[in-house]
Amino acid sequence: MNFTRKDTKKLWLKDVAIGGNAPIVVQSMNNTDTRDVEATLKQIEDLATAGCEVTRVAVPDSIAADALRSIVERSPLPVIADIHFQAKLALLALASGVAGLRINPGNIGSEQGVKEIALKALEKGIPIRIGVNSGSLDPEIRDKMGGVNADSMVASVLKFCKMLEKYDFHDICVSVKASDPKLTIDSYRKLSQEIDYPLHLGITEAGTPREGIVRSAVGIGTLLAEGIGDTIRVSLTADPVLEVETAYSILKSLGLRSKGALLISCPTCGRTEVDLQVLAERVEILLAEVKEPIKVAVMGCPVNGPGEARDADCGIAGGRDIYLIFRDGEIVKKVNQENAFNALMHEIEIARNKYLQELQNED
Ligand code: SF4
Repeated sequence: MNFTRKDTKKLWLKDVAIGGNAPIVVQSMNNTDTRDVEATLKQIEDLATAGCEVTRVAVPDSIAADALRSIVERSPLPVIADIHFQAKLALLALASGVAGLRINPGNIGSEQGVKEIALKALEKGIPIRIGVNSGSLDPEIRDKMGGVNADSMVASVLKFCKMLEKYDFHDICVSVKASDPKLTIDSYRKLSQEIDYPLHLGITEAGTPREGIVRSAVGIGTLLAEGIGDTIRVSLTADPVLEVETAYSILKSLGLRSKGALLISCPTCGRTEVDLQVLAERVEILLAEVKEPIKVAVMGCPVNGPGEARDADCGIAGGRDIYLIFRDGEIVKKVNQENAFNALMHEIEIARNKYLQELQNED
């Protein structure tokens, strides 16, 4: 799948590029208490291991702002400070060496506060994300434009952008999230017509994993498929590591980033001859260690399985008496149940080596 990405300006969060056709960046947000430096760093390390590329921490008070310096110094990821209401905290965060700020200029308290933040960020070359969501619109605009809707969301963003542009600050990224995927999609569509700042996508307050993953996949996935979006964060009421894994699943589904193996498995039907759920879960655990972007299929019957999963690099189709191992849709081995898993592991190794060889040949 090839999508034409909308052209946006590029900005840098330390050495991570956002926008300007850079790969779509995966972000998350710590849910540790920022004042607890060790716990926050431990979670950042877990996020980095999962593939997170940028993280954000809440800065609710000056103790958290003071803790930022140690966090930033030791963090393996660029850290964005998330600030509400107090310009003073944003200035402290900028002094601590953060890679970026996330503010909503409309709620920072005063024009003078916005000015000080913009000028200091400009001096230090630190980008600012303007994060508007359905709960934080400009009240005047919301009342004038009939409440919370895509038009009032976008108008609020544009107003907040102007508040920074007034001080010649243009190192801006923008988000316009709602918990309703449809409102989010409409708002980003409109916004992408209006500005060329990079867009940070997300469904805010998406919920617990069961609902939140679906809502995020629908909202973020739809926009990405239209070429809209430069960086994404999946928001879940869960361990943020799951946010990162979900973000990569969305990107992998659209062929926008490759990270690790992709497991496909059939939904099972009346022809299913094995306990496919058990088998698929076992293979999924195995694939968590595989870094190469190969596609592995786990199918429930030998009659249709290899054909239905023709586009997989390799796979297994379970049968009552015999398991078929296949490669690029062709059956390469027939094994009994006892040897089936090892035979698939062997095929996965072949697929990994083939990928690495192709990579070498390209160089
Ligand atoms: S692969 Fe076989 S078991 Fe799975 S859905 Fe298709 S026909 Fe049914």
